[in-house]
Amino acid sequence: MDYSIARRRMVAQHVVARGIHDEELIHVMEELPRHLFVEEALQSQAYTDYALPIGEKQTISQPYMVAIMTQSLELKRSDRVLEIGTGSGYQAAVLSRLVTHVYSVERIANLARRARRVLDKIGCSNVHIQVCDGTSGWGEQAPFDAIVVTAGAPDIPQHYLQQLEIGGRLVIPVGGSGAQILKRVTRVSENHFDYEDILECRFVPLIGKHGWSQTS
Ligand code: SAH
Repeated sequence: MDYSIARRRMVAQHVVARGIHDEELIHVMEELPRHLFVEEALQSQAYTDYALPIGEKQTISQPYMVAIMTQSLELKRSDRVLEIGTGSGYQAAVLSRLVTHVYSVERIANLARRARRVLDKIGCSNVHIQVCDGTSGWGEQAPFDAIVVTAGAPDIPQHYLQQLEIGGRLVIPVGGSGAQILKRVTRVSENHFDYEDILECRFVPLIGKHGWSQTS
């Protein structure tokens, strides 16, 4: 099945028409086969602007959300990026086409395994995946130029702030379990952080030591 027409339409209607202007990102989303990141029965829905189930009660984020989060990171080619919540691997794949190194953490081994398979298939060898609780970041690989958290946190975990390079950007949904505010935090200097609200959003919970507890 050739999805390239559906994919271009999706990018035009749900990404460009809603104000995304980063040309390189738009190009990457026009080319990247999002349908490979969802199970076969859902592939025909891969180019609608919805989050879709990926098993284990998790979802692949809606395309517009991936676009606004990525654009908000203001990436440069040489950046090292940390993603929390590999999920399907789609966001990691978008990042991998824009920067040199992507580090992605997923707490559910099954999802990480599936994501690895798809990323290998489409040649995203610059994505490094670790299976663990990502609420402490990835200390061994820090600092990062950008950190993107693709699950909703009750508060901003301190480790993410500490693992940002000076000038680095963190994009994270923060708030209650029903809805969150997507925030961007820029590390202006060693001890000074600038906070901005981007938009309201709805993510699955960030579960772990510095996130929500498993049962909440
Ligand atoms: N970026 C993903 C979206 C996945 S949904 C994509 O493009 O498909 C969020 C993911 O965060 C889920 O897979 C969930 O298992 C994971 N997650 C939740 N809490 C986590 C934690 N503490 N550490 C790592 N991953 C976590």
